Amino acid sequence: MKRYESWGRFPRAAHSVFALNWHSQEIDFPRFTNKVLAFGLGRSYGDVCLNDGGTLLDTEGLRHLIAFDPAEGIVDCEAGITLAELLEIFLPKGWFAPVLPGTRHVTVGGAIANDIHGKNHHRAGTFGCHVLGFELLRSTGERLFCSPDQNAELFRATIGGLGLTGLILWVRLRLKAVSGPWMQVEHLPFSSLKEFFEFSRDSDSRYEYTVAWVDCVSGGGKAGRGVFIRGNHAAGKQAQGEWKSKPAFLRIPADAPGFLINRCSVRLLNEIYYQLQSAKRGPFTMPYGPFFFPLDSVEDWNRLYGKAGFLQYQVVLPEDGSARLKEFFEKISNSGLGSFLAVLKHFGPKRSPGLMSFPKAGVTLALDFPIRGRKVFDLLNALDEIAAAAGGSVYPGKDARMSPGHFRKFFPQWQEFTKYFDPAFSSDFKKRMLL
Ligand SMILES: Cc1cc2nc3c(=O)[nH]c(=O)nc-3n(C[C@H](O)[C@H](O)[C@H](O)COP(=O)(O)OP(=O)(O)OC[C@H]3O[C@@H](n4cnc5c(N)ncnc54)[C@H](O)[C@@H]3O)c2cc1C
Repeated sequence: MKRYESWGRFPRAAHSVFALNWHSQEIDFPRFTNKVLAFGLGRSYGDVCLNDGGTLLDTEGLRHLIAFDPAEGIVDCEAGITLAELLEIFLPKGWFAPVLPGTRHVTVGGAIANDIHGKNHHRAGTFGCHVLGFELLRSTGERLFCSPDQNAELFRATIGGLGLTGLILWVRLRLKAVSGPWMQVEHLPFSSLKEFFEFSRDSDSRYEYTVAWVDCVSGGGKAGRGVFIRGNHAAGKQAQGEWKSKPAFLRIPADAPGFLINRCSVRLLNEIYYQLQSAKRGPFTMPYGPFFFPLDSVEDWNRLYGKAGFLQYQVVLPEDGSARLKEFFEKISNSGLGSFLAVLKHFGPKRSPGLMSFPKAGVTLALDFPIRGRKVFDLLNALDEIAAAAGGSVYPGKDARMSPGHFRKFFPQWQEFTKYFDPAFSSDFKKRMLL
């Protein structure tokens, strides 16, 4: 049975669900006695996709393609279509998603509402930079086509608008031309943050995709080590040959015991991961699936964190605040808490049209922490303090715990954003931040 929960499975929420089945469907908003919120695939880690006590408008039925211009690579599709489906349909025709997150199981509507970013942020900016327009249904029954030229303010407010401005029914998106499903990839082990920045500077102009995994548990001589991964779409001979995406090879069938992910197991996993990834080096050719979505090979991996769930923390620090990263790592190491999935990436200067978009030029760090009592909340609060002092911000699309005070510091434009809210829509994130 479909579970209506967030990927971090914290907090828990109880909903009524209203299933949508196509974009022209009449929706009688006054029939809902409580607030509504669109739901994609619940791949948001935190509470932007939850609406406790309210109704979720499930977009799973909004999966129709409307039109495609093969000369320009422009597609009109309903908002519940997933990036996995777009890739299946359009990659054989030479077109690729302009921005991909770390999982293919994300809807186009969800990608807009969180204005997601990927390994190509330094080149392509966010998902919203490639959206040419969309139709937004407001609870008044109005259907508004929003684009940079029409209803431009709602367009800006809805990109990164966390589902609070209405329901996106269908989207006009510009795809990217590629030569095939293969990637040309290199892994570069590094031993310090300084080296990470050097690799980034050296790679961003020559590689379309860059990202790094960093070991944030090991201390001593191993502190700050990691593996820098860079790649381009393969061209010529290397791009030839088909590749079909495969279903996950493993599924976690039940919640793991809460103690499974602890400092010792995380340290061990980090060691194994570091040795495996740094041994690969390259350049080598690999299919796009495992390059972009390594975590998709294990279905329901979020259950490894146990019933209590986990928190993902993603912060961006502006260029001149990146020296603060060391402080982050020291705080995490001193806390005794460890994160296996620690990802570092340099964001480029390309601005998103989204009013509330999270990325900005600088460096971003993403971490996962199992929920075990107060300690992790205290740690993340302390990290928020460092981020605020450095002029950084925390990703609302992954958040389930930041304070309203920090949110308002990170997004001083929040008051302007509230002007575009649809009053019938709400979420647990909105209640936590703004009420
Ligand atoms: C393994 C993994 C890796 C990830 N990697 C990245 C990454 O690299 N970069 C990144 O940016 N994010 C990443 N994410 C987060 C994910 O990309 C976003 O949270 C995305 O928005 C989830 O989309 P969804 O379809 O599941 O939407 P949901 O999580 O269901 O909803 C997200 C928001 O979109 C709104 N929404 C959904 N559909 C509509 C609609 N039709 N109209 C209006 N609002 C709508 C919802 O109300 C909610 O506010 C990752 C998540 C996972 C699990």
